Amino acid sequence: MLTALNYINGKWSETSTGNTKENVNPGNVNEVVGSYQESDLHDLNQAVEAASKAKKAWKKLSGSNRGEYLYKVADIMEERSEEIALIASKEMGKTIAETRGETTRGIAILRYYAGEGMRKVGDVIPSTDASALMFTTRVPLGVVGVITPWNFPVAIPIWKMAPALIYGNTVVIKPASETALTCVKILECFDDANLPAGVINCVTGKGSVIGQGIAEHTKVNGITFTGSNSVGKQIGHTAFERGAKYQLEMGGKNPVIVANDADLNIAVEATISGAFKSTGQKCTATSRVFVGSEIYPAFKEQLVKRTNELLVGDSLAEGTWMGPCASKSQLATCLEYINKGIEEGAELIAGGNQIHHDKGYFIEPTIFECTDHSQTIAQEEIFGPVIALFKVESVNEALKLANDVEYGLSASIFTTNISEMLTFVEDIEAGLLRINAESAGVELQAPFGGVKQSSSHSREQGEAAKEFFTSIKTVFLK
Ligand code: NAP
Ligand code: MG
Repeated sequence: MLTALNYINGKWSETSTGNTKENVNPGNVNEVVGSYQESDLHDLNQAVEAASKAKKAWKKLSGSNRGEYLYKVADIMEERSEEIALIASKEMGKTIAETRGETTRGIAILRYYAGEGMRKVGDVIPSTDASALMFTTRVPLGVVGVITPWNFPVAIPIWKMAPALIYGNTVVIKPASETALTCVKILECFDDANLPAGVINCVTGKGSVIGQGIAEHTKVNGITFTGSNSVGKQIGHTAFERGAKYQLEMGGKNPVIVANDADLNIAVEATISGAFKSTGQKCTATSRVFVGSEIYPAFKEQLVKRTNELLVGDSLAEGTWMGPCASKSQLATCLEYINKGIEEGAELIAGGNQIHHDKGYFIEPTIFECTDHSQTIAQEEIFGPVIALFKVESVNEALKLANDVEYGLSASIFTTNISEMLTFVEDIEAGLLRINAESAGVELQAPFGGVKQSSSHSREQGEAAKEFFTSIKTVFLK
């Protein structure tokens, strides 16, 4: 059985609390994947002190020197990609095909940011004084605290840690407890790439202790968080109070609009993939679908038929399309929302039930036909494989409903009409727009983030990450 230790100041260390917790496979609850430590603030403090001590020397390295380390981490991770994909799949239940893809993505992100170490970090701005040179440069924040969720246990830690490091910050990460083992496997790659001690540290434990501790620690200069809205807001308040920089990526309630002129097959397949891959546990997952009244009967029929054909089961088995919910509590939340949907009068037209009870936390991909957009299942993030399906009379009506939620992360439209596409681009309230493509899907070299309650309005990934992980110095030189 795997035992995940903390990684502090270049060493694997046991917590003084002596408390450990087991992570079980949500698709095979008799299988213990391994255990991680429930650390305390003493452990966290050691990690932050180590990161704080290491920050000066790390910042002094050239960007290309730092990049060399990231290239090395990527190479090591590539050798271990199957092992990492397997642990991630067992720990949170995504199919092995999906965690393989995610691991490949993680490696590509490392290489992308390794290269970023040689790209520009400032501008020359013409001064009104002809004898002066005015320019900007960027400096690291210092120690960056990284708090991550369980739904992308490989990609999210890397898309935060890699840019933090390349721009000269040192890191303390607290991974989601549900996927602590996967994160420790990633940290082993950093360890084996011989990063200087203290540059990267990992402390596992309760969010309310270690996560909150990171938010409060006066030596943590920036916090990057992905997770739920309630926790994100609390972290934001805490960081704001003490003047730390923060970045929050949170929930979504992502719409798909299917116009009457859409390609039916493409729209149905993309809706299914967007809504049900990863058991609907993506922040960018499709959860509301607005369909033009002319295409509606055919769309509904094909959507239900295809949904009923999806193979739900063992994440590691060849041919499985959808794995379990990531945890017992995720399953319970989904079932609660399904009950609420029925109670509030939505019509259940596919799925709705827990399945394979004896094995784990499996649920059928579920579709509700809805008429009232104020219903709970149309408003709140479920984070499970549940679609709320609506018939609309026009793209304008769809846009109005699509925007009638607190969130604004991703959104799709299916149409062949360019003017409808442009109206969508103009009017949809979301940060990630997808036209004739599913709502979930992010390229690592492009900015990612949301508006409204989905985000603190900063952007991650690509070059956009530079905005968060550095601050600008404006220099006037005469
Ligand atoms: P979560 O409960 O907010 O947890 C996220 C992280 O915060 C975990 O590491 C968690 O630790 C930690 N945490 C929990 N309580 C804390 C506290 N009081 N103070 C500081 N940290 C704390 O979210 P989740 O359930 O893991 O993830 C699902 C949510 O993430 C969904 O809402 C989803 O939409 C969102 N998400 C957003 C994006 C995006 O990019 N916008 C991407 C993926 C997921 P423990 O694991 O120990 O509780
Ligand atoms: Mg949680």
